[in-house]
Amino acid sequence: MTLVDSFGRSHDNLRISVTDRCNIRCFYCMPEAGVKFQPRDQILSFEEIERFVRIAVTLGVRKLRITGGEPLVRKDIAELVRKLAAIEGVEDLALTTNGVLLGAMAQELYDAGLRRLNVHLDTLDRERFKQITRRDDLEKVLESIEIARRIGFGPIKINAVAVKNLLEPDIVPLARYGRERDIEVRYIEFMPLDSQGLWDRDRVLVQDQMIAMLEGGIGPLEEIPDRDPRAPATEYKFTDGIGRVGFIASVSRPFCLNCNRIRLTSDGKLRYCLFAIEETDIRALLRGACGEAADEEIREAIRGSVQSKWIGHEINSTRFVPPPRPMYSIGG
Ligand code: SF4
Repeated sequence: MTLVDSFGRSHDNLRISVTDRCNIRCFYCMPEAGVKFQPRDQILSFEEIERFVRIAVTLGVRKLRITGGEPLVRKDIAELVRKLAAIEGVEDLALTTNGVLLGAMAQELYDAGLRRLNVHLDTLDRERFKQITRRDDLEKVLESIEIARRIGFGPIKINAVAVKNLLEPDIVPLARYGRERDIEVRYIEFMPLDSQGLWDRDRVLVQDQMIAMLEGGIGPLEEIPDRDPRAPATEYKFTDGIGRVGFIASVSRPFCLNCNRIRLTSDGKLRYCLFAIEETDIRALLRGACGEAADEEIREAIRGSVQSKWIGHEINSTRFVPPPRPMYSIGG
């Protein structure tokens, strides 16, 4: 069984936000202070998430990504990793983290069955790291990446949000860092998902600009033919054979026509798109009843959400309406 929307796109990739809380404060995601987080009893339990994933797998979901906020601030997160890794039909399990707590938890996560990591890191410069995140944790993040490499996680990728007039000096150093460690750096175009309405098209460093910087600073790049056209990143390799980079160009080169992703928020809402305005309340169904009939109702809700999915975000149209929740309460 597959989850196919009205545009013929099949959906096998579920992103699971396990918390809206975070231990850093990236300015393009949340304000420094005064953030209202979800009350704990509104957050799905690991058992509820596991039940939802088991149902989603019967509809063809195969790939899972654990996100936040920052997933590693969720207590006993390795327990959830263990539960999800044990579900028959799950072929791929990954986690996106800001890396601050990763070093201390890496072995436990690895033992629980996690292998794939994306570490969110925009700069290797301590002052700019503090400026972006309002925390002085760069050293911890870099140390965590080394620990994760030593333990054997792989692939490890770096996600860097490329904000214009701020992160230009980091584009080339990050790629060099990746080349030295066989880590793919993914540059993400700044998207209108922040909670303070800071986004502006003029603050988006686009893929073509970053490619020009990388070719100028390191060397020629060659596009790698799509292994999976539904994957959000376009990947390139340096022609000298050392290292690769990726671009998630949601603004300048939207990839919605191949989208295979749905998202579950930490408070149990199903979103067919990162920018969706409407959501489906799965928590109410999960907390309603148990048993096969109830599972079938949840299956219907998932199908219904996918069936109502739009063709894609409208960032580049005058109709664009920012989603009613910011990035930290949706998850990457
Ligand atoms: S913006 Fe929405 S439809 Fe487009 S790729 Fe992202 S999640 Fe899919």
